[in-house]
Amino acid sequence: MINQSNLRMTRQRRVILEELRKVNTHPSADEIYEMVRKQLPRISLGTVYRNLEILSESGEIQKIQFGCSQKRFDGVAEDHYHIRCLDCGRLMDAPPGSDVRISYKLNENTDFKIMGYKLEFIGICPACLNHHQSC
Ligand SMILES: [Zn+2]
Ligand SMILES: [Zn+2]
Repeated sequence: MINQSNLRMTRQRRVILEELRKVNTHPSADEIYEMVRKQLPRISLGTVYRNLEILSESGEIQKIQFGCSQKRFDGVAEDHYHIRCLDCGRLMDAPPGSDVRISYKLNENTDFKIMGYKLEFIGICPACLNHHQSC
């Protein structure tokens, strides 16, 4: 049954998805909240969180979290590599064609059902490199 609140949810979710797909900065939920608020001034942070969870569960977006770092969200649903700056924490997509061979033969060597893999490069981004050189 579609009621008013379901319709509103749907519009909010669409705006959240659109805003997330406009950027490649892998924003946190708080950052997405700030982006979405420009279009939906009355949206709550809780609603943003809830919709991000729904979107990542349905595979529209990816949720990225390593260790205890803050959760980030990625509008690109397809598997791709990430590169993270150790200094400022900026997370970017590795350039297309970055080829790292990860063998799915793992499937044959373990009783786990392998669902995929997560890989992240780490380094220092150009902005931080400049900053270091000027010190
Ligand atoms: Zn950096
Ligand atoms: Zn990404």
